Formats: sequence, structure tokens, C-alpha cells
Amino acid sequence: MTMHIKDIYQKAAEFGFLTKEEGIFLFQQAPLAELMLLADELRKKQVPHGKVSWQIDRNVNTTNVCIANCKFCNFYRIPGHAEAYITDMPTYRKKIEETIKYGGDQLLLQGGHHPDLGLDFYVNTFRQIKQEYPAIKLHALGPPEVAHITKLEKSTHKEVLTALKNAGLDSLPGAGAEILIDRVRRLISKGKCGAQEWLDIMHEAHKLNITTSATMMFGHVETIEERFEHLIKIREVQSHKPENAKGFLAFIPWTFQDVDTLLAKIRGVQNLTTPEEYIRMIAISRIMLPNIKNIQASWLTVGKQVAQLCLQAGANDFGSIMLEENVVSAAGAPHRFTYKSIQDAIREAGFEPQLRNQQYEWRQIPEMIEEQVIDY
Ligand code: SF4
Repeated sequence: MTMHIKDIYQKAAEFGFLTKEEGIFLFQQAPLAELMLLADELRKKQVPHGKVSWQIDRNVNTTNVCIANCKFCNFYRIPGHAEAYITDMPTYRKKIEETIKYGGDQLLLQGGHHPDLGLDFYVNTFRQIKQEYPAIKLHALGPPEVAHITKLEKSTHKEVLTALKNAGLDSLPGAGAEILIDRVRRLISKGKCGAQEWLDIMHEAHKLNITTSATMMFGHVETIEERFEHLIKIREVQSHKPENAKGFLAFIPWTFQDVDTLLAKIRGVQNLTTPEEYIRMIAISRIMLPNIKNIQASWLTVGKQVAQLCLQAGANDFGSIMLEENVVSAAGAPHRFTYKSIQDAIREAGFEPQLRNQQYEWRQIPEMIEEQVIDY
């Protein structure tokens, strides 16, 4: 079948669901300027306020003990390792108080698949944090951790998610998606849940009215076809959310960070994604996912300049300044922002910055905010 680029542009402009073949055709054949223009037009229709949103939160890790052995992860330690830890309440208190001082309203709470920490551990941790800091939001765990807890408890996703929600879970990050194709998952993250379970957990969360986000980590062993299959699977789950649920609030594509990872050392896999390819993937994300409103540029992995260009290519969100981040940084992501420099970067790109919360509701910048000193 012959494909005509103008017909595909037209279908995309009308928020049609492009097929995998149509998406790949655009990704490979469309001139970059045309692809960016199309995605920019869709962004203006989807997000007519025209602002670029950003967030202040802190990534805090519940534990670094993990039995999943992902080959791109330098963060985890095996059970019994001298550097293994489980974060205790005094540490949470200190980190939350610093988060508040720096204007944050949320913890992104994630960790390894600890073989001994079941549902009670997370329920008690969430309850305790919420009891002491009711205004702090918990954007916590992710489908692989929910799957791990479900397995340990011999329970169901629904029961685990319901208990976590009742204990204070506010939203579920799209962590651990990588590429939602089992061939890829077997190669890079065999210990994590399979693609279908990741999607099922997200669908269950949407049914329970828990808001979520979706991610894609690319630039490793996946094929271009598999990237598009990933996008379509996410789009399908969003299409099946209950009508009154928000489902996936955002999509965040980011590149594999290869420094010192097993994937790089043993298999020789390097992230060869060029800036142009990342910008194309951002534009394609906007075009392929007409039912997800917010597309986030991952400045953490691609840097300020490329992320700024993404704002002309369909992205409308710069994500969080991440007061603390240990997982992606451990694999080489060197970029940092403060609450001032992220706004400067958005303004430099020609947009008005707008602080938001996890639900994409606007926040005022707190009057007493302090600027973090970036010293690493
Ligand atoms: S990415 Fe997460 S699940 Fe995989 S090894 Fe690291 S901590 Fe464990």
C-alpha cells in the first residue's frame, strides 16, 4: 500500500489514531521541521493555555535492595549487601522538611523489589508519612513494584492498589515501562513484570480512579517497530479507562543512560540517540497519543538545549526539578535545575513557566521558597 505523507498529516491533525506503519513512516520520512510543526499544532489544540508546566518534588527511595537485576540499573544492591538500606522515618522527616523548604509538595517514592517487604510495610510507611505531613502528596511505587508486592502477598492488583490508595497513595508513576514488549524486557529487565501485567496494573489503577503517567525508555536494544507498539499499547489502555477517570495524565519518553551499566559493559549496548532523534520521538509521542494531554521533555536525560527544542515539537511540560534523584543519575544523567533555572530555561525557549502539582493543577510558587544549591 502506498502511503501519502499529506494524508497522514491530515489524519494526525484531526486527532486520528495513526497505525504503527503510518507512525513509522512519519518518523522515518517526514522532514523534521514539518514533524515539529504538526506536533506543535496538536499541542496548541490539546493545551491551549500555551504555558509550559513544571513541578517541584523529590525522589526518595524506600529501599535500594532489589532482586530484579535490571541490566541498566546501577542503583540497586542485592539483599545482605553492605550498602543495602531501608529508609527510616527520621530520614523521611528530614527529606520531607527539606522538600517543603525548597517549595516541593510531593515525594516520588520508589525503590527496589525487596524480597521481604510486603504490603504492610508500604501501607504503614504511607500512613505514617500522611499522618505527619498530610499536605505531602505521594506519587509512589510503579507497576513493577505493585506486581512484586502482589506476588509476595499472593493477592490481586486490585486489592494491593486499593490498600495503597487507602493508606495515602495519591498517584502511580509510569515507572518500569521501559519498552512494553517482552522480547526487550527479557533482555534488559527480566526480573520485572511483563508488558501485559504493567498494562493491566495501569488499567486497574484507572478503574480505581488513581491517576498515572506513562513512560518509555528507549535507545537500547529495542527496534523502531517495538517503540511504536509500545506507544499503541499505552494509547489502548488510555482508550479503555472509565469515562470519568483521568487515566494517564502524561507521557514521558526518555533515553537509556548507559554509563557503567551491565547493558553497556557486557552487551556493549550504548545509547546512540541523537538530539534530532529525541526531538522526533517527542513529536511522534504527541502525534501517536492524541488521548494523552501532556507530553513531557526529559531534560534530565537529554539536557537543557534539546529539552527546550522539544517545546517547539509537541512537549508542553518540563517535569520536576527533582530535588533528589538517584536512579537515572547513577547511570550518567548529569543535568540539574533549581526552581529559578528551570523557569529561566522555559522563558529562554519562548514560553511562560507555570508551577503545577501532579494532577496538572496550577500552584503558586511558595513565598518562603529557598533555592537549592547544586553542588554535585
Ligand atoms: S530498575 Fe528498579 S527493579 Fe530494576 S534493578 Fe533497579 S531498582 Fe531493581
